[in-house]
Order: sequence, then C-alpha cells, then structure tokens
Amino acid sequence: MAWEQLVEVIRRARQDHDDYVSQPPRACPHDGEPLKVRPDGGLFCPSDGWRPEMDPSWH
Ligand SMILES: [Zn+2]
Repeated sequence: MAWEQLVEVIRRARQDHDDYVSQPPRACPHDGEPLKVRPDGGLFCPSDGWRPEMDPSWH
C-alpha cells in the first residue's frame, strides 16, 4: 500500500469515528431498548431509565 493511500485510510477512519461519536446513541447499551425522547429533549431508556449523559463515553 502506498503511503498516500495509508494516510487516506487513516483520515477516513478518523472522520468515521468523529461522525460516530457525534451521533447520539439510538439504543440502550444495557438492553438494546430503543431510546425515547424525554420532555426536556434528552434521550432515555424506557426499560431501565439509562440516559446517554450518564455514560461519559458518549461525550
Ligand atoms: Zn436500558
């Protein structure tokens, strides 16, 4: 693989990662339950009450 191709692969992977972390989660990581929208606009799991902001990995 040429150096330029490698650089491009890394650049795309980084962009994918940025896209991924900027997306809010769609399902609870504990039980896979689709998240619901709270009255304040945030998300929560209707099954166990998990919220994305409780998990620092989503910041
Ligand atoms: Zn849950």
